Amino acid sequence: MDSEQLREYGHQMVDFIADYYKNIENYPVLSQVEPGYLVKLLPDAAPNQPESLQSVLDDVRSKIIPGVTHWQSPNFHAYYPANSSVAGFLGEMLSAGPGGGVIQGTASEAILVVLLAARDKTLREAGKSALGKLVVYGSDQTHFALQKACQIAGIHPENCRLLKTDSSTNYALPPEIVSEAISHDISIGLIPFFLCGTVGTTSSGTVDPLYSLAKIAKSNGIWFHVDAAYAGSACICPEYRKYLDGVEEADSFNMNAHKWFLTNFDCSTLWVKDRNALIQSLSTNSEFLKHKASQANLVVDYKDWQIPLGRRFRSLKLWMVLRLYGVENLQNYLRNHIKLARYFEECVGQDPRFEIVAPPKFALVCFRLLPPVDDNEARGSNKLNQELLEAVNSTGRVFISHTVLSGMYILRFVVGAPLTKRRHVDAAWKVLQDEACTLLGSPLQ
Ligand code: PLP
Repeated sequence: MDSEQLREYGHQMVDFIADYYKNIENYPVLSQVEPGYLVKLLPDAAPNQPESLQSVLDDVRSKIIPGVTHWQSPNFHAYYPANSSVAGFLGEMLSAGPGGGVIQGTASEAILVVLLAARDKTLREAGKSALGKLVVYGSDQTHFALQKACQIAGIHPENCRLLKTDSSTNYALPPEIVSEAISHDISIGLIPFFLCGTVGTTSSGTVDPLYSLAKIAKSNGIWFHVDAAYAGSACICPEYRKYLDGVEEADSFNMNAHKWFLTNFDCSTLWVKDRNALIQSLSTNSEFLKHKASQANLVVDYKDWQIPLGRRFRSLKLWMVLRLYGVENLQNYLRNHIKLARYFEECVGQDPRFEIVAPPKFALVCFRLLPPVDDNEARGSNKLNQELLEAVNSTGRVFISHTVLSGMYILRFVVGAPLTKRRHVDAAWKVLQDEACTLLGSPLQ
């Protein structure tokens, strides 16, 4: 983030929006274009090279605005209002500036809606009374969003199977364990209906074997979802595309542009193979929302693909990111983070007091401080690393997190902030080494 560029672009953007409001009464309040008009006006692919903000705004003016229904126009009297205000706009800008945010557009929602679609598809065949028999599969590394989705969807808590993984597969979900669990559940009269694989698990960045899992899911008539919330971004680089091999066999897939793709929170993209399953589960038919285009199925009504009726215009900010960076810059952005993570891994590898735990994937490094030989694990490796984490984070100069794998307390170092450079990684490693020296009571050899 270049603050001068922010100032320049910010002024252009504010002028653009202020002009829009000045002229809002001049626009037809209800869009006058035919559904689908925009597809013909846009290129098929994102630009490889960055474009200027001016050219993006020109396109917004000439191509996007004609398709907009002006909810803020003083001539808008339909439905109920959806107010915007100067204060609301400034608040949105402010929340984008310092980062962070809340609710909606998350991987958790993506997983929930596809789980609901799969559940209802199964219940249409098995009958509504079969709800208590439905079984979901993931691993003990699957994000808890799956468990939460099960809770909301009314899946019996014992029927959410988080199958055990271990270091022998680097914490990836072994297909044979999935097969066994499914066969066992079928034999006792249960109904397997959903399997979740992950590309880039939250704890250690592991990639589940998508092809094999997809095959098992297909042969058992189970919906296969791939959660690539974090690592999906890296797969825009040809060299990391292999981690998604097999995704074409999946029924659904999600990736969070708000995680590692320079798109401000919130923006979690979701793809589904069978949109009808989703629509059958989530559609509502309200007289007050009917119009000619929806009745003739000319438009995609996204209220039937999500939980709320309304939603923010998230695609616009992702579109801006794609255009203002260009694919090459986005690829280099991700590669640079991965390179810096490899550099951090080298630093850890050169210090015999530490060890790497689980092979690093993407821009995440899992490592731990080894207890001194004469310690006899008296303090215990877990306690030692817990203390190191607390000591490091309490300096306020670096913030790292932890996980537990096979009962082992592990430190996680992720390179993913847009402003991170090599000197920040050096500084973080220095803090880690200094705090390790203090804890172990010995200077660095
Ligand atoms: N899935 C994975 C693999 C994640 O790492 C995370 C968050 O870290 C999530 C899902 C949940 O993301 P969200 O906050 O978008 O629901």
